[in-house]
Amino acid sequence: MTRRAVALFSGGLDSTLAVLTILRQDIKVKAIKFRTPFDIDISPTMLHSYVSPSPTPPVKGGEIVGIAPVKGGKHIPAPYPADCRRVLSRVDLPSPLAEEGKGEGYRIFSNADRFGFEVKLIDLSDRFIEIVKNPEHSYGKNMNPCIDCRILMLKEAKKIMDRINAEFIITGEVTGQRPMSQRKDMLYHIDKEAGVTGYIVRPLSAKLLRNTIPEEKGILDREMFYDFSGRSRKKQMALAKEFGLKDYPAPAGGCLLTEPNFAYRLKDLLNYNPAPHIRDIYLLKTGRHFRYSPSCKIIVGRDKYENEIIESLSKDTDYLLEVEGFASPITLVTGEVTEEALNIAASICAMYSDAKNLSRVEVIVMKWDDRFSLRVPPAGNKIIEALRISKNG
Ligand code: SF4
Repeated sequence: MTRRAVALFSGGLDSTLAVLTILRQDIKVKAIKFRTPFDIDISPTMLHSYVSPSPTPPVKGGEIVGIAPVKGGKHIPAPYPADCRRVLSRVDLPSPLAEEGKGEGYRIFSNADRFGFEVKLIDLSDRFIEIVKNPEHSYGKNMNPCIDCRILMLKEAKKIMDRINAEFIITGEVTGQRPMSQRKDMLYHIDKEAGVTGYIVRPLSAKLLRNTIPEEKGILDREMFYDFSGRSRKKQMALAKEFGLKDYPAPAGGCLLTEPNFAYRLKDLLNYNPAPHIRDIYLLKTGRHFRYSPSCKIIVGRDKYENEIIESLSKDTDYLLEVEGFASPITLVTGEVTEEALNIAASICAMYSDAKNLSRVEVIVMKWDDRFSLRVPPAGNKIIEALRISKNG
């Protein structure tokens, strides 16, 4: 009889080791990578880091949006909203990671490929945004609702466990690694809230935790687990060596919600727009952001790649600005755009272009098939500082 388990899988070292530890006990593992707009590892950049000529369309009627290849590469569909006008022509978006073939997407799937387990990507965006807006267990240091996040992910994993007749859920959590959500008592609380008490196996810290149901049933041998705790990764690195696991990402501190500047931008967005469109959240990851008014934002690309992202996320109702004849950022103006807002956006665009030392700069303004130009002086520091949405000013 084939025994099955579901794993919460981030692609990082801990969750990979947890899976490998279980595979050693002849259990078939289905690893789930929950995708949210706040992922660092699968951002628009990373999404293009593992591309083959045969894109896989999203699965309809469910949440599964990508499947790791068993052999060879498959395109991971981008999570862009359908009404972004240029996105469908951007599956070949240039990415330094794609060129190197070594992005996080590559790592996640190449390790799964190598060690013989399946990874599914499941999009949790809508439900995740709701807990970010109203977490029951409050936030961590920034906008990260870690406890609610873990509860949500375990609830979703439980559904999959039931669906595929798996017997337990694996996570790579290590007690004491994070101050709040990985405290022993909190791990038990999270399990209870998610309705999975006894079914969560945390192989890296299992010897420090209560027996689980699969251990009691004799499905798992507790002696093959570990007693890791705390923030040091030394033991994990030694174990990785034992498994021959070489290619894994540096430990990350969490998702983008833990980053102060991103959290600040998100707070600004939710303050002016309590029900943001998902593409507004994707835009928060890219460029410099300026708030012109409660209903109008200006976003300026910082390099060629960000320019591509901003352009691909633009909608028919947005304005795109650019200084012609000079190296220039793509500047997006979105929301209720007035003539004055366009002039300010043009002056900001000019200020970040190679024409910034000219007294007046011609800026091209495009809105879908409409195109005209504005002549403006580059913005001074005062405007930049007054409008910029940044924790650091
Ligand atoms: S940092 Fe917290 S909120 Fe973000 S993915 Fe991890 S557990 Fe969830």
